[in-house]
Amino acid sequence: MSKTIPVRKNDYIDVEFEDLTHDGAGVAKVDGYPIFVPGGLPGEKATVKVIKTNKGYGFGRLIELLERSHFRIDVEESDAHKYGGCQLQHISYDAQLKYKENQVRQVLARIGKLGDVKVHPILGMENPWHYRNKAQVPVGEKDGKLIAGFFKPRTHEIVDTNESLIQLPEINEAIQTVKEICSELGIQAYQEEEHKGVLRHIMARYGQQTGELMVVIITRTADIPLKNELIEKIVARLPKVKSIVHNVNSKRTNVILGEKTKVLWGSEVIYDYIGNVKFAISALSFYQVNPVQTKVLYDKALEYAGLTGEESVIDAYCGIGTISLFLAQKAKKVFGVEVVPEAIEDARRNAELNEIFNVEFAVGEAETVIPKWYKEGNEADVLVVDPPRKGCDEELLQTIIEMKPKKVVYVSCNPATLARDLRILEDGGYKTIEVQPVDMFPQTTHVEICVLLLKK
Ligand code: SAH
Repeated sequence: MSKTIPVRKNDYIDVEFEDLTHDGAGVAKVDGYPIFVPGGLPGEKATVKVIKTNKGYGFGRLIELLERSHFRIDVEESDAHKYGGCQLQHISYDAQLKYKENQVRQVLARIGKLGDVKVHPILGMENPWHYRNKAQVPVGEKDGKLIAGFFKPRTHEIVDTNESLIQLPEINEAIQTVKEICSELGIQAYQEEEHKGVLRHIMARYGQQTGELMVVIITRTADIPLKNELIEKIVARLPKVKSIVHNVNSKRTNVILGEKTKVLWGSEVIYDYIGNVKFAISALSFYQVNPVQTKVLYDKALEYAGLTGEESVIDAYCGIGTISLFLAQKAKKVFGVEVVPEAIEDARRNAELNEIFNVEFAVGEAETVIPKWYKEGNEADVLVVDPPRKGCDEELLQTIIEMKPKKVVYVSCNPATLARDLRILEDGGYKTIEVQPVDMFPQTTHVEICVLLLKK
């Protein structure tokens, strides 16, 4: 790379895109100096305005497309498209899938030195739109009317939108209806700067398999004005609603949900199924936002675990026990570990709900609890991990290497930390057998991956 920066801020330049970054921006190079341009696709030529130059890389805005990729699809100029966070929406779905699959291959080769492992074609969705079962939208006011929708990037300005392209229609409808009702009742929106007003967020969750809807009203104030009218109207206009919940968040914070939660109408939870496992979902519980693809991913984990009914299995980072409950149906015993106590409460409740009794859950860090179990003489035949983006703790990986379970199934939402951890396990005596990418979040850059490792 040349030492001087070859472009200056506000320059207009013609470039050709060579690559995409992991967050979906086009990468063009001027004398080896990379410029990231949202919206540019590999193979395309464009006029770009340079908007920022750092030492090693710069940013640009796409001004005019000069040569168009055949993977490009035209995107409407709507707010839902502009602000909805769908970084890959301008790429045909087939090309999105190829992009994610290749990204997994490249990262495994570069970071994990695993250029030879078998990476299966990614499993995508038949219909890659309107899949999310949950939304929480900020509420504001404009010209005396309530507005709700997306934040403009890097601002606190709300764009009033009635649709998100990746939320289920039931979720879009619920948010829009509740917004209208609150507007009709003259309920004030929260004003962030003065920390005044009432309504902060509207949240909706939907059980796609059961048709049950939950509405959560999040306010700064302990009371909601015209509460009974609000409930009546929601029940009348949203026939699928099973639960209306009030959450109070009186703090100056970006965190959405606050300290107090109270059921206003109906039940405390709604239910949904992933495969044959039933889940109770409360306003605060974690639940997968795309249950259709969650099933695809966890079916793969189950397949890789290859259980016969005799095995003792550890599910590290188990959350509300989704994978644990899947595994328990085929294993002798499953032990789940998770650091968030409320998630473990949900996990236990879900085990009971499904009458699954061969599973035990523990609260704690995987890297503390599992080494302790090991020292006490408890071993596992199969170990499953599904860590957050930062990957597994080194301490946990070392314990796996010492404990030597026959199989390790690694479920990951971040190819880079996955590759790093696979390298450590490989060097510690494991072999990466196969890798299955799954598209859990179409139109966005996220990719999920399920990996099988065997003890050498
Ligand atoms: N399989 C889970 C989701 C896993 S997401 C499910 O389907 O519900 C990753 C989980 O790891 C989160 O629930 C997070 O709270 C938990 N976590 C994060 N750090 C952890 C740690 N050090 N030890 C155990 N759990 C952890």
